[in-house]
Amino acid sequence: MSATLETRLGYAPQSAATLAAYLSCIPRVCAILGGDPSAWRIEEVGDGNLNLVFIVKGPMGGVAVKQALPYVRLVGESWPLPLSRAHYEHMALTEQARLTGRLVPEILHYDETLALIVMELLEPHIIMRRGMIAAAVYPKFADDISTFMARTLYFTSDLALTADRKKAMIAAFAGNTALCKITEDLIFTDPYRVAELNRWTSPQLDAYAARWREDGDLKVAVSRLKLKFLSCAEAMLHGDLHTGSIMLTPDDTRVIDPEFAFMGPMGFDAGAIVANFVINYFSHDGHEEAPGARDAYRERVLAMLETIWTSFREKFLDLWRNNATGDAYPTSLFQGVDGEARLEAERQAYMDRLWADTVGFAGAKMIRRILGLAHNIDLELIADKDRRATCEARALTLARDMMVNAGSYRSVADVANAARRLRVEMKSY
Ligand code: ADP
Ligand code: MG
Repeated sequence: MSATLETRLGYAPQSAATLAAYLSCIPRVCAILGGDPSAWRIEEVGDGNLNLVFIVKGPMGGVAVKQALPYVRLVGESWPLPLSRAHYEHMALTEQARLTGRLVPEILHYDETLALIVMELLEPHIIMRRGMIAAAVYPKFADDISTFMARTLYFTSDLALTADRKKAMIAAFAGNTALCKITEDLIFTDPYRVAELNRWTSPQLDAYAARWREDGDLKVAVSRLKLKFLSCAEAMLHGDLHTGSIMLTPDDTRVIDPEFAFMGPMGFDAGAIVANFVINYFSHDGHEEAPGARDAYRERVLAMLETIWTSFREKFLDLWRNNATGDAYPTSLFQGVDGEARLEAERQAYMDRLWADTVGFAGAKMIRRILGLAHNIDLELIADKDRRATCEARALTLARDMMVNAGSYRSVADVANAARRLRVEMKSY
């Protein structure tokens, strides 16, 4: 098996034992950590699926070190994956930092050969998914994530970029094919067919999994979404923008882990946020201490979701009105008497289409978390399988409808209301 793994002159996976010597040669990192390298404490903490992550602490401060492995960490050497994902993560992180400033961790050092990024240690930040499972409140999050999405998506689109710069970005990200393929297979294909990697809460959801594999309308819907993902190079996506890719405190938000970045359809990033909020909403029935104990938090999740989309929409439109520097919609075409009115109507129509994409992609992202390989702990941590299956069945039912009937969800409030309704109407799986 290991014969198929990528090798590269100078590449070696780091360990706690080798990393101190490596970092001790980087003056900027030494200045942050302080003291003698022999006193640095190094721990591998990667709880993600793909890479090594080390936390390094010295007497003065700390850094985080992320290194790609030539295979998928979660699965092992039998699933090779190119080291170049660190290159794409670094490029996306650089671009996101330029566009959003402190909404991503600062890059301190990058080593292309070692496929390794040294970055700011986020502390006491926690992974947002864990916070939301514990019903933590994040008053700044909706504002921060809507800014992140509006600025990263708008400024990398044809609305802001000239055609030559846009095409240069497409070229720069075009090689991240292996990571895109993971999405193409695990999100848009496997949950709808018999696939070795699929898993679900069994036997409770066996009938759902079987029905979802026989559902022609759903297969057409997911195939349309897949085609859009494959062919629509609208803007630079984070590519994996779920609540496990966000580290935060109540007053500081950071988006991490953009290794899936590429030029794709904007609705895919927005849909990831919607999907993870809806899943979290349903999951509290499996976590609450007594029925109804988390009613207030549940409503807070939906309120936050509504604010995220409406703020995103307003921020994106404002950027468009004030920074129309791209080659799309030439201003010379909209200078007549009703020019600005026609353009504004078209901006609104653009956002409506983006919302419809978002609804569909959100549905696909929910289904893959319940019937596909990679689940999320909002649901996985519900120990009682019957309770978990009920939460999952509600999410599956809503997700299917969001994909097949995306156009009937005219606003984010429609999604929130459908989720509320399903919770009441579906008593059990
Ligand atoms: P993967 O791509 O393998 O999923 P992630 O980038 O998601 O890796 O990182 C895995 C984990 O490492 C995160 O869930 C988080 O706990 C920790 N981590 C990553 N980056 C940082 C950072 N800058 N500061 C602190 N912890 C981090
Ligand atoms: Mg990752």
